[in-house]
Amino acid sequence: MKKVLMLSMICSALILSSCKSSKENEESVGRTSGIKFENLDTTVRPQDDFYKFACGGWQKNNPLKGEYSRYGSFDQLAENNQLQLKELIISLAGETHDEGTVAQKIGDLYNMGMDSLTLEEQGAEPITELLKGIADIKDKKELTAKFVELNKIGVSPFFGIFGEADPQNSSMTIAWLWQTGLGIGDRDYYLDPEMENIRTGYADFLTKLMAMSGYSKMAGFENNEQAKAQEVLNLEKSMADIFMDKIDTRDPYKTYNMTSVEDLQKSLTVIDVKAYLTGLGLDIESLNVGQVEYIKNVNKLISKTSLDIIKNYIACQIINNAAGYLSNEFVEANFDFYGKQLSGKTEMKPRWKRVVSTVDGAMGEAVGQMYVEKYFPAEAKERMLHLVKNLQSALAERISQNTWMTEATKEKALDKLSAFIVKIGYPDKWRDFSSLEIKKDSYYANILRATKFETEYQLSKIGKPVDPMEWLMTPQTVNAYYNPTTNEICFPAGILQPPFFDMNVDDAFNYGAIGVVIGHEMTHGFDDQGRNYDKTGNLNNWWTEEDSKNFEARTKVLVDFFNGIEVLPGVFANGQFTLGENIADNGGLNVSYVALQKAKAEGGIQEDMDGYTADQRFFIAYAGVWANNIREEEILRRTKEDPHSLGEMRVNATLKHITPFVEAFGIKEGDKMWIAPEERANIW
Ligand SMILES: [Zn+2]
Repeated sequence: MKKVLMLSMICSALILSSCKSSKENEESVGRTSGIKFENLDTTVRPQDDFYKFACGGWQKNNPLKGEYSRYGSFDQLAENNQLQLKELIISLAGETHDEGTVAQKIGDLYNMGMDSLTLEEQGAEPITELLKGIADIKDKKELTAKFVELNKIGVSPFFGIFGEADPQNSSMTIAWLWQTGLGIGDRDYYLDPEMENIRTGYADFLTKLMAMSGYSKMAGFENNEQAKAQEVLNLEKSMADIFMDKIDTRDPYKTYNMTSVEDLQKSLTVIDVKAYLTGLGLDIESLNVGQVEYIKNVNKLISKTSLDIIKNYIACQIINNAAGYLSNEFVEANFDFYGKQLSGKTEMKPRWKRVVSTVDGAMGEAVGQMYVEKYFPAEAKERMLHLVKNLQSALAERISQNTWMTEATKEKALDKLSAFIVKIGYPDKWRDFSSLEIKKDSYYANILRATKFETEYQLSKIGKPVDPMEWLMTPQTVNAYYNPTTNEICFPAGILQPPFFDMNVDDAFNYGAIGVVIGHEMTHGFDDQGRNYDKTGNLNNWWTEEDSKNFEARTKVLVDFFNGIEVLPGVFANGQFTLGENIADNGGLNVSYVALQKAKAEGGIQEDMDGYTADQRFFIAYAGVWANNIREEEILRRTKEDPHSLGEMRVNATLKHITPFVEAFGIKEGDKMWIAPEERANIW
């Protein structure tokens, strides 16, 4: 539900040593180009298929393992991080600690997740009470209290609430009401006629869940689960019908509708809104309703649907949510649908990986604090700050020199750019986990307590000022983000390490890798979403009409271009849905390229290394970040659900628009990587 704009799966890059004189440069005998020839496929002409040329070797050397639906160079880094976390967690799990310490909580949670004997013994027992509570509902009037109880443990049928900045008063956190509750994920899965097999798979999955959990027995329809699962699927289909489309959910204006509690009550008559909010600890007069029409329509839907179907739907949501933390039959049913059918994986991840992820998800900052103490070198932060400054001045230069904006709007853009808050490595202030209880009852009971702890923490922010020190990612995350309402860019420690962030390689490579990542996040401040926010993070149109028109005309080039890419036979990329990310890639490349030219002028870069020019190495490094192998199921799933373009497109489609790339590799009309200069998108 978070609206943060993430680069998702990035990589990291370099630590360039600080400003080097050319003398120092000559002396840096050991510095390599950073290019690994085994990752290239030099039998392919870069002018025809740059992705194959730059990543073909990597793809061949890293065949997909059964547990992955996609595996790329940043997954490799994430896997390495996970090994480091495992080591930290296991060292705690092997010792005894005082009750209530962070070490006890991390160690016990891990041990319980690994204890397969107890998990098998307990079977469905950890969710029995919750399911009885659903089977016992007698009247729709009970739904209000039920939604409160379930929202607290992370189950949000129909709609849910979270706290996030008020787009028109971004220093304050307000409540957001948002559409939720589609078990398969994207609404297209329910509506696309081509996806009948996925719907059938989902109904089979629900059938199993209701039987295995004992819910069908409690609810009195044992042996009739299949028909009941079909009813639940039909209800979710009706929800999908009235869901706001994913493209509109990216529109900050369409999703901003401040509504008084009284007015909301008028359109949401199936619950007692005041009691619902109070139950969640919220004493508020108004809130933002993300999808006004949906709320009206879902109210009608709940009214006309029988209580039994609603109860079965809610029960399915609960079991589905718990399935990964119960005995094997649940874990396997869950994997068969989400892992195999939806993503094309053939093997489940080993138990330790799943449990490390769970501990990391439940107590991320506690684990992160240990992680940075051991693995994050202090000099990396300094080096990144320097790089960010270089990128910031390169973007400023490009804004000042562009030919399509008026001076007045340029000035505001520059103002916004210089107001960026930059977060690197790890937070200055750590989260307090003292009120989280981890006990030796059951693995799932602890997941419930951890979720409740998290929900209460998130909801407690509502009605209070936004905390500028807060981080929206943990330090061990291999990713980065831009948050429009705080106007901040953040680069967690997890991404700032080899093989992508490397002190010993020439900076041309590093500008192509982490440099483009930094430029990408900065550009998010000026993409189709980010441009709507001013330097203080308020939704506030600071553009002249003419500048807006020019922006839209320039970005439409990317929309049309990506709409024309066939990712699988008959399946096309979604240019509008991926626009923000494609603008960020386009801008990130252009901006980091300018920064590289400045570094070259200062004498810190070697022109020729390993047979490639500095500019060529920059683009090879960029492509290397996106090296991956991916399954067809995952291509389809990502095209539906991921606002980022596929790795191959982030290279081959994106680079066609970058004129310095065309020049660096001497690409000419007739080459497959060629498009005419007037067809290229040039925005930031
Ligand atoms: Zn991004």
